Amino acid sequence: ENFKELGVNKDIIKGLNDLNIIKPTQIQAEVISVLLQANTDLIGQAQTGTGKTAAFGIPLLHRINAKSDKVQGLILCPTRELGQQIAKQLFKFTKYTDKIFTESVYGGEQIDRQISALRRPTHIIVATPGRLIDLVKRKAVDLSHVKTVILDEADEMMSMGFKTQLDEILTHLSRVENRWLFSATMPQEIMQIIKRHFSPGAHKIE
Ligand code: AMP
Repeated sequence: ENFKELGVNKDIIKGLNDLNIIKPTQIQAEVISVLLQANTDLIGQAQTGTGKTAAFGIPLLHRINAKSDKVQGLILCPTRELGQQIAKQLFKFTKYTDKIFTESVYGGEQIDRQISALRRPTHIIVATPGRLIDLVKRKAVDLSHVKTVILDEADEMMSMGFKTQLDEILTHLSRVENRWLFSATMPQEIMQIIKRHFSPGAHKIE
């Protein structure tokens, strides 16, 4: 199956092709076919380097209304480096689409600069969990229009001690339509997060 047969928007396909992304990887084929059908929770066991960013990024982009200036998607990840990589990929995927604005925020950098960056229209926030909570407490972000929340490299976030923050964020976002979690391993702490916050009918992809 190619991206067109999976139902991917033709302008996104153009952006992918510029990056030499022509044929979906296995996880992309599985995840995209599920996530373009309907809103759902999803749990994907996936290593890095398998193309998982596009696997969740493409269905996320499909759900963004570029005409609204509300934050509609949230991606949580363990580190600044990963966050910046994800934001960069989303930017490239949308080269030929309506402008979709992604901002990445992470701990260890001046929060004031991130607060002013977030005053511009932002559709997708990529964040490390602790910094996101700080920004919410300072009312620098409004998550009330978020429809999709993604946990990328969930096991790494656990190793870095973000479990309480993830619990807090998922509780705050208990009414979102889509929760997607990706992790290379599924330790007990992740199973607890899934049990607490994800739909029992979540799709599982291995
Ligand atoms: P990821 O696992 O998302 O970090 O992606 C790893 C690398 O594979 C990135 O440099 C992507 O641009 C690239 N990539 C993702 N999907 C594909 C694909 N279907 N074909 C070729 N390269 C890809």
